[in-house]
Amino acid sequence: METKLCISCKKNVTNDQGCVNFKCPNCGKYELIRCTVCRKNATQYTCPSCEFKGPN
Ligand SMILES: [Zn+2]
Ligand SMILES: [Zn+2]
Repeated sequence: METKLCISCKKNVTNDQGCVNFKCPNCGKYELIRCTVCRKNATQYTCPSCEFKGPN
């Protein structure tokens, strides 16, 4: 099974019911994963593919 890590804090989100997966809004190539905490705190993330930075 693939290990899913939050893009911002690198926490394992396998058991995080509130985590979200979404494609990078800029390049659409990379699947970004955010945990519940980072969503709540609007923690900044960076796409590893195109270096797009965003809170959403
Ligand atoms: Zn996180
Ligand atoms: Zn991207």
